Amino acid sequence: MTEPRDDRLPHADLGASWRASRPRPAGRHLDSAASSRQSNRALEAAAHHARHEAELGGYVAEAAADDLLQQGRSVIGGLAGMAAADVAFVESAQAALVALLTGWRLAAGSRVACLPGEYAPNVAQLRTYGLRPEPLPVDDRGRADLDGIARLLAGDPPRFVHLTHIGSHRGLLQPAAEVAALCREAGVHFVLDAAQSLGHADTDLGADVVYGTSRKWLAGPRGVGVLCVRPSLAAQLTPVLPEPEGVPPMRAFESGEAHVAGRVGLVVAVGDHLAAGPHRVRERLAALGATTRELLDGVAGWRVIEPLEEPTATTTLRPPDGVDVVDTRARLLTEHGIVVSAIGRERAPGEMTGPVLRVSPHLDATVDDLEALAAAL
Ligand SMILES: *Cc1c(COP(=O)(O)O)cnc(C)c1O
Repeated sequence: MTEPRDDRLPHADLGASWRASRPRPAGRHLDSAASSRQSNRALEAAAHHARHEAELGGYVAEAAADDLLQQGRSVIGGLAGMAAADVAFVESAQAALVALLTGWRLAAGSRVACLPGEYAPNVAQLRTYGLRPEPLPVDDRGRADLDGIARLLAGDPPRFVHLTHIGSHRGLLQPAAEVAALCREAGVHFVLDAAQSLGHADTDLGADVVYGTSRKWLAGPRGVGVLCVRPSLAAQLTPVLPEPEGVPPMRAFESGEAHVAGRVGLVVAVGDHLAAGPHRVRERLAALGATTRELLDGVAGWRVIEPLEEPTATTTLRPPDGVDVVDTRARLLTEHGIVVSAIGRERAPGEMTGPVLRVSPHLDATVDDLEALAAAL
């Protein structure tokens, strides 16, 4: 590979240190919206904990990791604008939503406003709990329409607003701070799905609930997620079993049996994120997104769906007529070693009109990687 050409991208030091601090990729990994590459430190911390379990016993090792896990809750809480006591480790973003809905025990038939392009598994989960998803007003790009939302909240408000901050199927950044402010004024709870935005965009925006996952932009291990709930709402939740004596109420939502080594790995990964400077991370990721879109839009008839300057690293491409997205994804992987995702319409059927190819580089991606993808397309 040639020397990375980082001239178009800010904070070249972040790209270099991100690259140097993890295993060498087998190809070109442009798929962080699915799962990022972990750092050596995060991998070693998880392995070290697993080894401790064998040496000390699983429960003794967990007790020994208690301070580290509590620091992690504190840092994760900070990313959500909350405190350590407001954070529960869970197994995934879906598990976080399930834990929240289990504890909330809302009356069947309660209305929940969410984007028309809501992540389909979230809609399915809301329905499983007897809730009725109804669409938030959006503009023609699918971005939340603030005037429309203000009218919705002033009229017949839903039980809560659920907003997916950045979609899985589209790299649009929703105006979550503004929606949070409207909800607060109206006295309506605001839940933020930050699965695609923790470690990618600012998530300290005044939401009552922020939940997400370890493996995407925070680059932690798979099988770990987080649920952050403000105390005023946490006090209204009823867990299946009460929390043990002397710990914060949100701890009742942590599963007793868990991949503790994975939690340890996530704590190290969020520490790395903080050390890199979340602001700088966001700036570089946004620049990567803009560069990706500029390089790919129109190539071989593929069209970028996001506005070119959208401040996210996720780009989705609509295929030219007659080109199959799943086949293209497979061809890029097997013939070019390029990892991207094919996203089918079922991911967000309320918004998508067909499948898209999703490109989601993390900090270490280079202009060279993006040009290679353009050439391969
Ligand atoms: C990935 C994703 C989820 C689910 O995360 P898991 O950790 O796989 O449960 C939820 N919402 C969005 C927008 C996602 O991209």
